[in-house]
This record gives sequence, structure tokens and C-alpha cells, in this order.
Amino acid sequence: MSTESKKVMVIGGGIAGLTAAWELAGLGAEVALVEKADFLGGHAIQYACKATDECRQCGACAVEKMLKNVVNEPAISVHLATEVTGINKNGNFKVSLKKGDVSKDTAACADGYTANPAGCTAVKGYSLNNAKFYQADGSLNPETTGNADALEVDAVVVATGFNAFDPRIKSTYRYDELDNVISGLDLEKGKRANGVVLRPSDGQPPKKVAFIQCVGSRDERLGNLWCSQVCCPYALRTAQSMKHKDPELEITIFYMDIQNTGNDFPVFYQQCKDEMTFVRNIPVDMYKTDDDRIRTRFMAAEGSSEAIQEVFDLVVLSVGIMPSADNAALAETVGAPLNGDGFFACAEKLNRVTTGQEGVFVAGTASGPKTIAESIVHAGQSAGEVMKYLGRAS
Ligand SMILES: Cc1cc2nc3c(=O)[nH]c(=O)nc-3n(C[C@H](O)[C@H](O)[C@H](O)COP(=O)(O)OP(=O)(O)OC[C@H]3O[C@@H](n4cnc5c(N)ncnc54)[C@H](O)[C@@H]3O)c2cc1C
Ligand code: SF4
Ligand code: SF4
Repeated sequence: MSTESKKVMVIGGGIAGLTAAWELAGLGAEVALVEKADFLGGHAIQYACKATDECRQCGACAVEKMLKNVVNEPAISVHLATEVTGINKNGNFKVSLKKGDVSKDTAACADGYTANPAGCTAVKGYSLNNAKFYQADGSLNPETTGNADALEVDAVVVATGFNAFDPRIKSTYRYDELDNVISGLDLEKGKRANGVVLRPSDGQPPKKVAFIQCVGSRDERLGNLWCSQVCCPYALRTAQSMKHKDPELEITIFYMDIQNTGNDFPVFYQQCKDEMTFVRNIPVDMYKTDDDRIRTRFMAAEGSSEAIQEVFDLVVLSVGIMPSADNAALAETVGAPLNGDGFFACAEKLNRVTTGQEGVFVAGTASGPKTIAESIVHAGQSAGEVMKYLGRAS
């Protein structure tokens, strides 16, 4: 069999799945892209531009570009609102699919905790502009969004991404009760939908904002020991773009360590330190003041018993990257094991895209925290390995 006629299923249509599909098509494969939500782009299609008077290289706009590539590529068939229910490996892979119920669980809200309809509408609004997938009434076009209940493919790429940490788990931050305590994901969605950051309680721009880093990551008590790698970059870039729009805005970053944000990190970090207050301590709790602000308490210094109180208009919890809630079931379906943290395990130390199942590869954050840029690179490597495997299997 020639490589031209090889078929690959990519599961997950975030930036990693889109990139893997696009690269595979470019290398001559026929691709079925299976996405459980009713739009493509995953988490990152919801993110806001973080430019000041120059691009801050957050990567968010790369997602729309890749989405357009995929939509216009005839070798990629897109199956939206579709889930894989079974895979039978006998030489190649016989896959069963089912159309999912997307009435409530779109990827925009798939993290479960976030109830920001503005964000969801913005994402669907973007997707609805894509006439290929949607009919005039906004419903999915069955002709272009897949109606197969079975596929036969030669290889599989798992690109099912992550779940953002659910901030309700850190109950002392009272995310559920206090309108003006929001997550980093809420911030991204709101900024994308409105163009600016506003307080949920009154729709007013905040004058004093706190970012709390490492929410859900590097947390021994939760058993989440990894650094999510993306929350320092997204928080600092967003904070800088907010400060650029409103130079009077006061921003405090509560942190344990600051993760390198890329090539220009020393210069960028110094700019942030000049423009914002950095406190190397994490607040312990939040209260609402009589004038609808948030009072936080934190220790004056590491090991100190002296508590300091400070009041903010808005508190942003910089939530990190957790394994997708689907991973355990999907690992069983595709026959590829997870690592101790719950992400898809890489079979070889020097090859980060092969899994424990021959013919099944992984791309993006399904195998652990990555930025958008890193997910793109990883997905490209995954596509390359798939083609090598298909060449060997010919
Ligand atoms: C709050 C926040 C802000 C961030 N900001 C930035 C930033 O500014 N810059 C940056 O570089 N990175 C940022 N990141 C990281 C960025 O989100 C990831 O790098 C990127 O989304 C990873 O893409 P992915 O395709 O691996 O996963 P995802 O974006 O999670 O996409 C996975 C896709 O798979 C689908 N899926 C899941 N399970 C299934 C299944 N069983 N069947 C079919 N489909 C399935 C999902 O619906 C989704 O569409 C941020 C992360 C967070 C939490
Ligand atoms: S979305 Fe990010 S990468 Fe794109 S222009 Fe804005 S700052 Fe630059
Ligand atoms: S990237 Fe920053 S905020 Fe996120 S877990 Fe790592 S150190 Fe903490």
C-alpha cells in the first residue's frame, strides 16, 4: 500500500490536533479529525491577544490561522460533535463513532466549572462565521461535519488536550461565591469577548488587580506536583497588556517562582517588575468588603506569622493544566497507558510522541503541559513519526 492511501484518525481538534491533521495531509495522508465539541480550536481559540504596542508572542492567533488551513484542506474530513466509542486493532484500526450531545458541554465550557456564557458565545460566534460547518440557523451541517458511525484507519493521533484546574477545589479562594474572583480561563474568555477586562459584579474596569499564580499546580496537598508552564506567561502577558491599556492600573502578582516565558524573558520580566508589584507569597483566603471589593490575607514573608491584608477590585486565579477528564476512558479505548500524573505516557525517553500502543501517537497537552508554540512543534513531530510508522507498515 502506498503512503498516499494511508488513513489517520486525529482525536481532538485543538491546536495540536489541527496541526497534526494539517501536517499529515501535507505529507500525503487522508485524515479524519474527530472533535467532541461542535467547533474546532480547543481551549486556545478562546484566548485574547496580549499585544501591547507590539506582539507579545502569546501564540493565540496561530490557532485561527491553523483552523483556516484545516477547513480548506480537502484531505481532512472533520467530524464535529463526535466521540470515539471503540477501537478494534487488528492490523489496522476499526473505529466506532457516535454523535455526541453538545447542548451543554461545548469545549468552551468543557472544563466544567466555568459558567461564562460570553466566552462560549464568542467562540461559537467565531465558528459560526465559518459557513462550511454551520447551516443558516446555526446548527451543524451534517454534510461537512461527519455522519459516519465507523472508520477504518492505519494510525491514530491522540490530541485530546487538557482540563484547566477547577478553582472551586481551592475552596478558601471562594471562586463560586465571589463574583470578582475569576480564573485565568475566565479572564481570557472575557477579554476575548469584550476586548477589555471588566469586573463581573458591575461591568466596570478594575483599578487594582491581583494575580495568584500556581493555582492547582505545584500543589503537594492536591498531588499535582508539576509546573503547568503556561500560567506565568499568560498571566504576565495579560497583566502587561492591561497595564498598557490603562497605565494607572495597579497590578500585584502573588507567586512562588516565575516560569521562563520565552526568548526575551529577562527583558520582559524586568519590564513587568518595573510596572507591577511582585509578592513572593500566596494569599490564604478572600473576603468580600462592604464596597464590593476583595480583601486577601497573606504572610509578610516566608515563614513569618505576620499576616498582611490588602484589598483588590478583581482577583485572577492563574489556573494550570490538568490531565483531561476523558483520559482514563480514552486510554482504555486506544490501548495506550497514562503516566503517574494522568497524562498520556510516552513510550520512549527520547521520543515524546510514541505511546505504549503501536500505531497510536500523542500530540500536544494530552501528554503534559505545553504552550501553544510547543504544542504546534510536538504535533509536527507526531505527524512525522506517524508517516515513518506508515512507511514501515507498508
Ligand atoms: C487559562 C489558560 C491560558 C492559556 N494561555 C496561553 C497563551 O496565552 N499562550 C500559550 O502558548 N498557551 C496558553 N495556554 C496553554 C494552551 O491552552 C495550550 O498550549 C493549548 O490549548 C494546547 O492545545 P491542545 O490541542 O493540546 O489542547 P486543547 O486546547 O485542550 O484541545 C483539545 C481538543 O480535544 C477535544 N477533545 C477532548 N477529549 C476528546 C475526546 N475524547 N474526543 C474528541 N475530542 C476530544 C477538546 O474538545 C478540544 O477541542 C493557556 C492555558 C490556560 C489554562
Ligand atoms: S494574539 Fe498573541 S501572538 Fe498574536 S498578535 Fe496578539 S500578542 Fe501577538
Ligand atoms: S507556570 Fe508559573 S504559575 Fe504556572 S505552575 Fe509554573 S510557576 Fe506556577
